[in-house]
Amino acid sequence: MTIVDTSMEVRPANSTKLGPAACEEDAEKLEFIEEMTVNADKVQEKVLAEILRQNAETEYLQRYKLGGATDRRTFKSKIPMVTYEDLRPEIQRIANGDRSAILSAHPISEFLTSSGTSAGERKLMPTIQEELDRRQLLYSLLMPVMNLYVAGLDKGKGLYFLFVKSESKTPGGLPARPVLTSYYKSHHFRARPFDPYNVYTSPTAAILCADAFQSMYSQMLCGLLDRLAVLRVGAVFASGLLRAIRFLQLHWQEFARDIATGTLSSMVTDAAVRDAVAEVLKPDPGLAEFIVSECAAGDWAGVVTRIWPNTKYLDVIVTGAMAQYIPTLEYYSGGLPMTCTMYASSECYFGLNLRPMCKPREVSYTIMPNMAYFEFLPVDPAAAAASGPPPQLVDLADVEVGQEYELVITTYAGLCRYRVGDILHVTGFHNAAPQFRFVRRKNVLLSIESDKTDEAELQRAVERATELLKPWGATVVEYTSQAETRAIPGHYVIYWELLVKEGEGGRWPGKEVLQACCLEMEEAMNTVYRQSRAADGSIGPLEIRVVRGGTFEELMDYAIARGASINQYKAPRCVTFPPIIELLDSRVVEAHFSPATPEWSPRRNY
Ligand code: AMP
Repeated sequence: MTIVDTSMEVRPANSTKLGPAACEEDAEKLEFIEEMTVNADKVQEKVLAEILRQNAETEYLQRYKLGGATDRRTFKSKIPMVTYEDLRPEIQRIANGDRSAILSAHPISEFLTSSGTSAGERKLMPTIQEELDRRQLLYSLLMPVMNLYVAGLDKGKGLYFLFVKSESKTPGGLPARPVLTSYYKSHHFRARPFDPYNVYTSPTAAILCADAFQSMYSQMLCGLLDRLAVLRVGAVFASGLLRAIRFLQLHWQEFARDIATGTLSSMVTDAAVRDAVAEVLKPDPGLAEFIVSECAAGDWAGVVTRIWPNTKYLDVIVTGAMAQYIPTLEYYSGGLPMTCTMYASSECYFGLNLRPMCKPREVSYTIMPNMAYFEFLPVDPAAAAASGPPPQLVDLADVEVGQEYELVITTYAGLCRYRVGDILHVTGFHNAAPQFRFVRRKNVLLSIESDKTDEAELQRAVERATELLKPWGATVVEYTSQAETRAIPGHYVIYWELLVKEGEGGRWPGKEVLQACCLEMEEAMNTVYRQSRAADGSIGPLEIRVVRGGTFEELMDYAIARGASINQYKAPRCVTFPPIIELLDSRVVEAHFSPATPEWSPRRNY
């Protein structure tokens, strides 16, 4: 039976409800988005039933005696909401080589290592082969949406800085690697069919090169060689694009030399990368001169549009922790629009931004109901303070505009009612699918790029470092912190107010001691922080700024003058409000940086 949809009748070819599609393939993808969002609740019901049917025989679902039920009511009444810590024993067993159907009926194909940590180590997210198709499907929706807003993207290329990271194996032999590393190494990415709307300047060999320096060098060089073809410039996160700009600032002379002579620097030794670059690198003294003229003066304002003048937008995530980079990106790009196209995680890819050209602060993501089963835990501080029953989880189609929720997911790979830790604010609906502004990640105090340091980790780091002060009769009376991101790479700044018991033989600790404290704090940080410092260089050395005695009292006075209660006042463990940072900085008596990088190794202790 065909149901007549009158809204379809008058539309010309390639016209969709979202707008006129750039081509037939795009029209299909846009219709898919419409279908999913119009039927959001039905799709969710179907997804849950599919997951429960597929995983009915798993140890996990058997434990909760679902008895083969696949309906929401039974699911909600029997399956508890969990955190990563709750699933740790199961995940550990899988990592150790237990191949029985513990969480998922399908074999776990690999672990995706999240930037979220547990006990200092990256969380391990089990995944199954078919999830790659689901991720690929979400990627395939991005350009059709972008093409609605920016014309002619098939007439040029994208300069994207994409990287793989080191990977390890679990004791049971499963690969453990970041989700993007898994994706770039997959057949889906490496053998992707030619798509005129998705042509990159970076050769695949350069993206897949495990050496971060060689990968960045060759990607930037290829971007320079093809500069007039570049229509969009991007990286996954804003911090990644800023690192690329910093790399250009440091290496433009080498690039100019390579381009002038047509020979790739000997710093790039990877044979596959050399071969790929050789295909595009020819002597071009004019281009080499141009690069020198743009870079030698050291004026970097608007450098992106000067070097790549046809760039229409930056494709980088600037929501969440990345919002801190917006002013710097504006400076380097001469105010190009910044598009945040998707919202995803190692656990599951969630959704996309249907209005990618909107302002960063207006970005809302539409969760695609086919990706997983989504539930939402209302965030209500008043209710949380009262000791009533915990709030009920709300379904995707039932969330309320204006409310904040924590995201809870049930995935095909076997996570059931799993708390992701992201707090989202409902801004509206597209058809029957809600749209969400990313508010924050729970418990994250400091973040420069993918690192997420919480209050307890910072506290432990300070405690470890203060041990080094003991022989000097010195203690840390109060501390706070700041993610300093004005210079690239950004770094953690920890403000310390010290007390030295001089009457009892104490002495003010010298420069070496405080530098050692910086390094000790870094050693105490989680693996993601240490990897960013030691392997990627994407976070700069930690800095301790010692403030003069009485500064934290002034901070309290300031807060109280602005309405804080004296009884309840606690020194904030992280500061972002510019007047407070100015106050702290104006009281700094000495500053010290970590003199070395902390220990990090890709091998983890399972
Ligand atoms: P990971 O587990 O390392 O893949 O990190 C996933 C997390 O990154 C998500 O749960 C979010 O906290 C954050 N994230 C991903 N995409 C976005 C986005 N578009 N905007 C803000 N935060 C994001």
